[in-house]
Amino acid sequence: MRPYAFGVDIGGTAIKLGLFRTTGQLMEKGSIPTRTENGGENVLPDVMAALNRAMDRRGITWDHIEGVGMGVPGPVDGNGTVYQCINLGWGVFNIPRAVRGLEPRIDRFKVTNDVNAATLGELWQGGAKGRRSAFMITLGTGIGGGLVVNERIVNGTGGGAGEIGHFRVVTDEPEACKCGGHGCLEQYCSATGLLRCARRALADPDHLPTALVDDEELTAKKVCDAAKTDDPLAVRLVDELGDRLGWALTAVAGTCDPEVFVIGGGLSNAGRFLLERIETGYRRYAFHAYRDTPFSLAQLGNDAGIYGCVRMLL
Ligand SMILES: [Zn+2]
Repeated sequence: MRPYAFGVDIGGTAIKLGLFRTTGQLMEKGSIPTRTENGGENVLPDVMAALNRAMDRRGITWDHIEGVGMGVPGPVDGNGTVYQCINLGWGVFNIPRAVRGLEPRIDRFKVTNDVNAATLGELWQGGAKGRRSAFMITLGTGIGGGLVVNERIVNGTGGGAGEIGHFRVVTDEPEACKCGGHGCLEQYCSATGLLRCARRALADPDHLPTALVDDEELTAKKVCDAAKTDDPLAVRLVDELGDRLGWALTAVAGTCDPEVFVIGGGLSNAGRFLLERIETGYRRYAFHAYRDTPFSLAQLGNDAGIYGCVRMLL
């Protein structure tokens, strides 16, 4: 095996790049802005230019690079065909073919969905280290999900495996989700969803006592922080989040029975406090065969993706 490999995690606003030794050590990381104009046509050329600059700085060439692993914010099938990345302006195309067209010297190239990559990263060197299978959910603006079984990412037929954000968990929700559905998990359990639920609760004149105020400054973090101080309404909101998310995860366990659930994304910064509420919800509904599945917090933060991208190559 060659001595180095690149991990590239493409997000809607920034692209994270990591140069690793193939022994697993992160040598350097950096980021460049994501230029999404004109259907995102600059994204892959920008990545290749940044990788070439990184190699120039270290005096190495593609001959020293085992390969490039890439995560993208959309569904990717097993052949590397992406089925739209709305955040990048991308339509449907084959990413490995496009990358090799730009840089034929790349020896090996792998691509997957960004949350799948982060899940593999956490399995390799983070919150699920030492396990062989894991299901990770990221709680941020939306909800992402990634599944790794026997240290392999499961993409699914159309790249949709693990995408639980749009599980319907409420049947009488009047507001529409951004997917067009009503009552999706991420309408309640993402950071945005928690904030939405908080605003709705505060609009009810008979709400529980609370120090929260429905102003422009209200955030999901403030709701979690208030819950940690036993604020009655905030505690109710976080308990409801844990209950709904835990319930949804029992469906995941009934399908793939992972060794561990990993909780990541911005909302997971609320830490064990939030994790315990999700676990409580999960164990309330879980069938006995998978009731004891452990939960852990993601540990690699924004670097999880580049770790997982490189792990795909090794
Ligand atoms: Zn939805």
